[in-house]
Amino acid sequence: MPIKVGVVGYGTIGKRIADAIVKFPDEFELVGVAKTTPDYEAEIAVRKGYKVYTYQEKLKDFEKLGIPVAGTVDELVEKADVIVDATPAKVGKEMKEKYYLPKNKPAIFQGGEKADIVDVSFSSLANYDKAVGARYVRVVSCNTTGLCRLLSAFLLHGLKIRRVRVCLVRRGADPKEHKRGPINDVVPDPVTIPSHHGPDVRTVIPEIDIVTMAVAVPVTIMHMHMVNIELESQVSREDVIRILSETPRIMLVPHGKRMDSLAHIIEWARDMGRYRNDVMENCIFEGSVTVIDGREVYLMMGIHQESIVIPENIDALRAMFKLADKWTSIERTDRTLGLVTEGKKYRF
Ligand code: NAD
Repeated sequence: MPIKVGVVGYGTIGKRIADAIVKFPDEFELVGVAKTTPDYEAEIAVRKGYKVYTYQEKLKDFEKLGIPVAGTVDELVEKADVIVDATPAKVGKEMKEKYYLPKNKPAIFQGGEKADIVDVSFSSLANYDKAVGARYVRVVSCNTTGLCRLLSAFLLHGLKIRRVRVCLVRRGADPKEHKRGPINDVVPDPVTIPSHHGPDVRTVIPEIDIVTMAVAVPVTIMHMHMVNIELESQVSREDVIRILSETPRIMLVPHGKRMDSLAHIIEWARDMGRYRNDVMENCIFEGSVTVIDGREVYLMMGIHQESIVIPENIDALRAMFKLADKWTSIERTDRTLGLVTEGKKYRF
């Protein structure tokens, strides 16, 4: 019997998680999605055949707009074996206290929640096994997921990391967010160093020496990371390229084919027919990969904030319900969701 999954919060992340869940009908059944507002997104969910649930006090609003509702959020939580919570930052904590704990439902939360509301902060390549059998799991944020995957690439290949220093250039808003900025500025975000990303990486890989700093810019398409990793042992540039090429969920953006910017990556995704132009892989500019003095690795990496955490949500579900071992899960997720799999190793 497939695991019954309810998705609470149907925005940028929640809608993508719902669309991913229905691609694994042997393992998961999407019981429904919870929406607070009767809007075009709710209407599309219904068109896709998803059952929409809302709060008791909102039922009339949905009725007025003719958007059919399958029941209340209370009922959705009751019916589901597990909830994937994709509500805005900090709302997940309230939902856990009000709905999931009283109904004894396990749940997955997203990166906007604090690490202390869960048993495990999760990133598949780094710590899949920690989530096996866990009841409350947090899939870390888009930037943290990108960094955890990148560092895992080196660790999985047996290399020791001395320290990591990262400058993050963050997109100011998601494409649909018409009221957020900046629109003509570069904003230290936050001005203090380290930004929260480094400590967040350590909730997944505790032993890493990492310092991050971040600015927000007037861009909606992707984040860009400028990364410096100092290793304990010597590597060549060719070693690093091989390591990155072999590691799942990492895509090398080819050098010399005029794929020179984040906009080109999004255009590539469009041309490849990727749904919503999603790019679930870390996108590392091959031309930027540089090794200095044999130990210092430099690179630039694009992160598609809207979609990068979707594969990790699917793996987290499998780990919690012990449906597959780490590498079986990662491979199955990647093949089914259409990530780049050519040349990837799925056993380390
Ligand atoms: P979003 O605002 O696009 O979507 C959240 C949705 O939840 C909205 O539709 C909102 O109306 C709804 N909602 C609010 N309160 C609710 C409630 N009590 N019950 C049901 N629905 C409720 O937000 P998002 O960008 O999808 O972010 C969701 C989570 O994912 C956050 O923790 C965020 O930090 C994290 N995250 C976001 C991104 C990103 O770049 N967008 C990337 C990775 C992780």
